Amino acid sequence: MDRRTLLRTGFGAAIGAGLGLSPTTMAHSAPEAAAFGGDGPDLEELRRALSRPDYLLIPGQPRYEQLAPPFNRQFASVRPLAIVTPRSPADIAACVRWAVRNGVPITPRSGLGHNYAGFSTTGGLLLVLSLMTDVVWRDDARASAPVVGYSTGTMTKKAGTLLVEAGVTNGMLHPQLERGNIVLPTGRCSSVGVAGLVLGGGIGFSDKMAGLTCDRLVETRLIGADGEWITCSEKENADLFWAVRGGAGDNFGIHFDFTLDYDKYHGTVAFYRFSWSIDTAVDAAVALQRACADAFRDPRLHMRIGLGTSGTSAQQVRANASVTAIGQFYGSARELRDLLASALRLGTSSEQATNAASIRDVTLAEASELLNEDVAPAPFTGASAVLTEPLPGERIAAVRDHLLTWPGSSNPDGVDIALFALGGAVNDVAAEATAYVHRDALFIAQFNVNWSERDPASSLRVHREWLDGLTALVPSTRAYQNFPDPYLRDPQQAYYGRNYARLRAVKSAYDPSGVFGYAQGIAPQ
Ligand SMILES: Cc1cc2nc3c(=O)[nH]c(=O)nc-3n(C[C@H](O)[C@H](O)[C@H](O)COP(=O)(O)OP(=O)(O)OC[C@H]3O[C@@H](n4cnc5c(N)ncnc54)[C@H](O)[C@@H]3O)c2cc1C
Repeated sequence: MDRRTLLRTGFGAAIGAGLGLSPTTMAHSAPEAAAFGGDGPDLEELRRALSRPDYLLIPGQPRYEQLAPPFNRQFASVRPLAIVTPRSPADIAACVRWAVRNGVPITPRSGLGHNYAGFSTTGGLLLVLSLMTDVVWRDDARASAPVVGYSTGTMTKKAGTLLVEAGVTNGMLHPQLERGNIVLPTGRCSSVGVAGLVLGGGIGFSDKMAGLTCDRLVETRLIGADGEWITCSEKENADLFWAVRGGAGDNFGIHFDFTLDYDKYHGTVAFYRFSWSIDTAVDAAVALQRACADAFRDPRLHMRIGLGTSGTSAQQVRANASVTAIGQFYGSARELRDLLASALRLGTSSEQATNAASIRDVTLAEASELLNEDVAPAPFTGASAVLTEPLPGERIAAVRDHLLTWPGSSNPDGVDIALFALGGAVNDVAAEATAYVHRDALFIAQFNVNWSERDPASSLRVHREWLDGLTALVPSTRAYQNFPDPYLRDPQQAYYGRNYARLRAVKSAYDPSGVFGYAQGIAPQ
């Protein structure tokens, strides 16, 4: 095992073994000095190669200590050898060349490092792209852009393009989209980075109307394994362009910008937010899933169905358990009420009244603000499933019963089981047209358990065992690559299915020696 591989895999395996777990994660822990030999690699050489010396941060510096922990605090103990906050492609290229010369693993991080499995942590060189946050608008105002009419507005398709640098987060982008009536499918959580989102697919509350985030990509530029720039689009390096739309981050290079096309919507949408107690969980989840299945081809309806709970005692876990639905509909509140009538009839009279009152006609910008979510960094473990059929009532009942056995945590975000409804424009794209293969899904299911650093030390084991019990109730051979699960048995098959062989060929062409990658990454042929 070479030094790079040891740093990538050895320490992560050690962490898992200590817990009696066997993740395929690369929870890259801090390298021991011996791993680099002698005094270790020459960081001063790297510092001199950067456009500003203070872009290099080492342990003990306040900025290093602030940036090192990833969003998933389960991996907070993984300490990079050094962190660089590049400001330009030239800085990134200098880092890649230095890392290759010195045999040091290099890992990019955008946003706060949201990767579920800790894959944006490393014991080597961490590149935090938080200084690269320019957004450049190219509102081409195409005269030929087709306009589609809906009952409450008009959609101008492919109205223009924008370029986002790799450190841009949803939270930076959304206000700009809102000001311009722009429809660009992104996620809900403000601190998620656009880079990781687009490279792994990108689901959100406009995807049935406008496709996945990666479906809007027209060009991206990256620094490859030899430290050189690569531009990829339909016309240039088309094989790589195919692979980066769903192949997931850190497989082919470090992307420094993304050019995406967008639509413009003038009019109103209907926003809604429903909640029922756990007593109505089965009926509500069945009715909501049925509505999503009926609207599978209808690009207007967007929905996230949630089952969850929180609390530290069995009583609190029971009392806080609920089923929810949130989303937006490109139409009127009246039309939406008709579409969701069977769900709106469920629950107590007070639940019925509150749910019905939540439906309202709002502007796209208002809906975006209402749908926004800020989630605090915390330790969590997660898994996902790709579903082509609604979960039947008896499965929902089993999930509900399992939910009530959750051991609890002082983290108020608790347990979150989400069904993201898909269809529409997402599934109009062929499974082989991009690396994102799950084009037949009715739902992507996500299972997350959050706990707190204040909880007992055995939390990961306890919560993971509970999560495994939950996922056994919703079996799936497939998983969403943007919700990576370090415990999957055959992760690449689960994430990429029949597209994996082609991804391996592209990997061999652009990064044959594996400068980039992680335990579940794409292996060269
Ligand atoms: C609270 C929360 C909410 C979420 N909501 C949604 C949602 O609504 N929809 C959805 O689809 N997903 C959602 N996700 C999942 C999210 O899309 C993925 O975690 C995504 O990979 C995060 O990207 P990031 O850049 O923020 O994270 P990072 O952890 O920085 O990056 C993710 C992966 O991409 C690599 N990477 C990062 N930057 C680059 C780059 N510039 N070039 C090459 N590789 C890079 C990293 O090394 C890592 O392997 C959510 C995640 C969380 C934690």
